[in-house]
Amino acid sequence: MVAAFAVEPGPGPNPGNHKAMIDLIETVAEPLVDAFRRPITYLRVSVTDRCNLRCVYCMPEAGLPWIPKPDVLSYEEVAEIVRAAARIGVRSIRLTGGEPLIRRNLDRLVAMIAAIPGIDDIALSTNGLLLADQAPALAAAGLRRVNVSLDTLQDERFTAIARRPGLARTLAGIDAAIAAGLGPVKINCVLMRGTNDDEIEAFAELTRKRAVHIRFIEVMPVTENVDLQRNTWISSDEVLERLGTVGALHAVPNPHGNGPARTFAYDDAPGTVGVISPLAHDYCETCNRVRLSADGRLKLCLFGDNMIDLRTPLRTGGGQAAIESILRNSMHIKPERHHLQLGEASSQMRAFSEIGG
Ligand code: SAM
Ligand code: SF4
Repeated sequence: MVAAFAVEPGPGPNPGNHKAMIDLIETVAEPLVDAFRRPITYLRVSVTDRCNLRCVYCMPEAGLPWIPKPDVLSYEEVAEIVRAAARIGVRSIRLTGGEPLIRRNLDRLVAMIAAIPGIDDIALSTNGLLLADQAPALAAAGLRRVNVSLDTLQDERFTAIARRPGLARTLAGIDAAIAAGLGPVKINCVLMRGTNDDEIEAFAELTRKRAVHIRFIEVMPVTENVDLQRNTWISSDEVLERLGTVGALHAVPNPHGNGPARTFAYDDAPGTVGVISPLAHDYCETCNRVRLSADGRLKLCLFGDNMIDLRTPLRTGGGQAAIESILRNSMHIKPERHHLQLGEASSQMRAFSEIGG
């Protein structure tokens, strides 16, 4: 069965909090800049490593050895780290996981982060299953935008890829997000040869009818999926070629966000198509981000091995000063680029769900 879903344009990015920005410019002594002069303005926060799906490229059917609950940062602890990061120039936060919407009352964390001076953008990455119920409360709390993972428009195929059913709920989640003003909604589609690559054109056609922004992501190697990755990987160049057979494409700016996607549109199309190819090193040159795991470890590069413990200093009373100083010092060891090759896994990352993708 091929699903149809109604997607309307969102209202676009909300106006920033100008007073907070002016306060911040006056108070930020020295913004975070790494050793390669890249300003770090974006923090991705994983709020849980657990998930209600088991996508084949992400984690094993039985799940992973989950982080023990006492080790997971409380919302207050996450806010404390975001506050320190904002004082030295971080402006954008993305909440991710695991599946962030399985963490209870996520809107409470969104409201706490929205109140932090300097933070002018809060986004969410979700599989969308629980989004229909939560979108209004999340938007009211200050969430701006959502990215929804959707690898197929076919019901049975969804269940095969995610190893659990949920297509209808994900599509309802996308509609609810748009209705709640959480647009532009980006749809992340991980392509696997022989599994869902025959839907490239169907996704592309959607963008000619609806204001949806589809980004095709190359499947990336992690410890749990090296064989699958080696056997099913499709290059972004091939995807762009196939997209070109649907109609004439022109390059367009990335619709609101920090993303590394190369983005295009068909003539007169309300939506866009894009490709994300993390194996290409041009991805690294403009890297503006660091990541925080659910148990409070700072990760400087998605494929790098460095993890810096922020939870211990936080729980032993180090406060803002300790976090700020660790963030600053970590800039010296943020790598210039990853050195990952096709079919080879990062040695310390079992799944993207550990660090939020
Ligand atoms: N559960 C949420 C979701 O699926 O959107 C957020 C966490 S998920 C780890 C974040 C993103 O990472 C998703 O878009 C997912 O498709 C992507 N992802 C996970 N494993 C991947 C892999 N091996 N290669 C490429 N993308 C992957
Ligand atoms: Fe869960 Fe997202 Fe990983 Fe799928 S990609 S298993 S939804 S964390």
